[in-house]
Amino acid sequence: SRAQVYEKGKSTNITFKDVAGLEGAKEEIQEIVEFLRSPQRYTELGAKIPKGALLVGPPGTGKTLLAKAVAGEAKVPFFSLSGSDFVEMFVGVGASRVRDLFRQAKEKAPAIIFIDEIDAIGRARGKNNGFNSNDERENTLNQLLTEMDGFGTNSGVIILAATNRADVLDAALMRAGRFDRQIYVDMPDLNERKEIFQVHLKPLKLDKNMDIDFLSKQTPGFSGADIANLCNEAALIAARKNKKFVEKQDFLDAVDRIIGGLEKKNKIIT
Ligand code: ATP
Repeated sequence: SRAQVYEKGKSTNITFKDVAGLEGAKEEIQEIVEFLRSPQRYTELGAKIPKGALLVGPPGTGKTLLAKAVAGEAKVPFFSLSGSDFVEMFVGVGASRVRDLFRQAKEKAPAIIFIDEIDAIGRARGKNNGFNSNDERENTLNQLLTEMDGFGTNSGVIILAATNRADVLDAALMRAGRFDRQIYVDMPDLNERKEIFQVHLKPLKLDKNMDIDFLSKQTPGFSGADIANLCNEAALIAARKNKKFVEKQDFLDAVDRIIGGLEKKNKIIT
């Protein structure tokens, strides 16, 4: 993912303020922040804290960002791995990485484990999806299930995973006591795009005539990641022209460039 790399096991300095829009998802995930902040409040009443939640939504909508914000809000260490790292892996390596990650997180509990692109390891077992390392993928998935079952509900480790293909996941992952909650992270609407622009325009030196409403209206179909990219492209274009401020025209040029890029990408897929 495009997300920044953090030192493993350190908390992040990202909070909910950095995540624009996504009010529903933030509200749902707030409960996980509370579990991490004060687990005793729940366990003393005999409540079982959920082990994991699945963040489901299209690419670039802020799933990784939201997971990091949970760690930042709760001030707990953030451990992460990406399912795509396991695609071409030697026998035994995937499972042992999963084991290591859980061991480290348990040592530092309360903590968050984030698994990006979980579909790369979590596809339904027993179906060959054109993977050449299919057995190793299944080993990795089995190890993940074993780890999730192996630690007590109140171990203080909560696992968040992200996917844009919840439909292909092995049903075993969604069973009670595993990822039994799903949180939807959708594409932004007009108002949410405005909020995302507000976050990503902040570091730029803008011309006084910049108009966030205008930019938001020019960008239907843009994800949060596309908007972040657009803002930076516009600044690059302005800098190339030796401008003192980033102007509306720079954004329009950047929109053209990004839409051109998206069209090319779609052509390659189809
Ligand atoms: P993928 O599924 O492709 O991994 P993702 O849903 O995990 O994507 P992120 O990696 O969190 O998306 O988003 C990439 C970047 O886009 C973020 O680091 C941030 O700069 C920007 N971004 C995405 N969504 C938002 C948002 N809701 N608010 C602010 N910035 C956002």
